[in-house]
Amino acid sequence: MAKTSDHHRPWAATRNGLAHQLGQIDGFLPGSVVVRHMPCGKPGCACKAEPPQLHGPYIQWTRTVEGKTVTRYLSPEQLERYKPWFDNARRLKELVAKLQIASVHALESEDRQAHTATPAPASQRSTARRGATKP
Ligand SMILES: [Zn+2]
Repeated sequence: MAKTSDHHRPWAATRNGLAHQLGQIDGFLPGSVVVRHMPCGKPGCACKAEPPQLHGPYIQWTRTVEGKTVTRYLSPEQLERYKPWFDNARRLKELVAKLQIASVHALESEDRQAHTATPAPASQRSTARRGATKP
């Protein structure tokens, strides 16, 4: 469908905004990251002192692969480098959910327009468009 006609469809501004944000995501990673500091088993180690100087950070990346939990460790540098991709996973989920809502609204408002007998006059159309830009 041509882009110009799409602009006249309901919720176009919202959907275009979301599509633009989706287009900026160039990577995302599954699972979750936990950063731990832990004591060891060595007696007299600094991790047993008061206050304890725990070992770490241990950066655990846990995800599910074919139904199994897989954990691997990341270096602090890797965490820094890949943190945007972990953040993107959550962002992607939110954007997809919002785009779905906007798309359902678009279809439903088109449905309502189809039920009104005559095409709306220009003044009414612009009112509808303004309403459609709301998030
Ligand atoms: Zn220790």
